[in-house]
Amino acid sequence: MTYRSGFAAVIGRPNVGKSTLVNKIVGTKVTITSPRPNTTRAQVRGVLNRPDSQAVFVDTPGLHRPRTALGERLNDTATSSLDDVDVVVTMVDATGAIGPGDRMVLAHGARRVRAQVRSAARAAEFAVSPARENQPGGLHAGDEEGDEGFDRDAFIVAPPALLVVVNKIDKVDDNGVLTHLAAVAEVGEALAAEGGAIPTPVEYFPVSAVTGEGVDTLVDAVLARLPEGPRYYPEGMITDVAEAFWVADLVREQLLLRVEDELPHSIACRVTEWEWPRVRCEILVERDSQKGIVIGKGGSTLKAVGTAVREQMLPGVYLDLFVRVEKRWQQRDDALDRLGF
Ligand code: GDP
Ligand code: MG
Repeated sequence: MTYRSGFAAVIGRPNVGKSTLVNKIVGTKVTITSPRPNTTRAQVRGVLNRPDSQAVFVDTPGLHRPRTALGERLNDTATSSLDDVDVVVTMVDATGAIGPGDRMVLAHGARRVRAQVRSAARAAEFAVSPARENQPGGLHAGDEEGDEGFDRDAFIVAPPALLVVVNKIDKVDDNGVLTHLAAVAEVGEALAAEGGAIPTPVEYFPVSAVTGEGVDTLVDAVLARLPEGPRYYPEGMITDVAEAFWVADLVREQLLLRVEDELPHSIACRVTEWEWPRVRCEILVERDSQKGIVIGKGGSTLKAVGTAVREQMLPGVYLDLFVRVEKRWQQRDDALDRLGF
């Protein structure tokens, strides 16, 4: 039995449901979600194991028009997730019209697939071209003994597939789903025509990441496109997220549920001490006025956040939450570097 494995990146505008989908597929919460945009701030990998395959789903920050240095870095994080993936999953939201943001996301996905198709074609040509026989590094076509141990097939990388997901179909009727599929397919076709056809067919999947409708079909399609390969992550490992990062994100997730307007963007969390069972997590805000909101009346917000996070951690943890003002951290490269963005 051949073992298949590979990576599938999920890209889309903020809030379309990328993180919810990755959690649904993996069957465990590996990445935080919220009704606020720009919740996801890093690439988070969730691993799906099957007896004959392993698919690594890469959750990414939403692609958007950046207004801050942080926003720019988040976009870079999302687009760089497309390097070396086997499947590109682009997601749109069925509850809103297909807008310029979605077009940009689809264009990113298509461009990436096309670039990889081209380099795969070049590699294939290079690998079999007799003209290159005597060039350094060239392969000796038809000469099996030429380069000892050189596996020609391994040199020919299959281009990634482009799958388009229309999410949140639980919120619209069948007609709405069809309209969306048609609208997004139109964009897909226009893109394919613009830059030359994408050799791999673009496929469309209506899905609800919340109810799970359509998710199995999507997963099957992803698995079917994985190449033969090794197990990248040991069985039982469902994510590569470090524990300290995870706890900081759980704190931020709880804060996002409790604060409003622009404040979610201003919050960054990081664990500064991990001396089990004592864990200290710092909450950064940008202004003094925000500090009070995060703490809440008589410390009520912070207390509720702490309780909700502790419930998701191993019993016995002492979780200390501190709020600190770090002026304009979203705009400052030094702060972003320090915070690991
Ligand atoms: P992301 O920014 O793309 O990662 O989006 P999230 O996964 O954080 O989800 C954004 C919001 O959309 C959350 O409130 C989710 O509960 C909601 N959501 C995600 N998928 C679905 C879905 O299939 N149906 C419905 N009704 N809501 C969804
Ligand atoms: Mg997300």
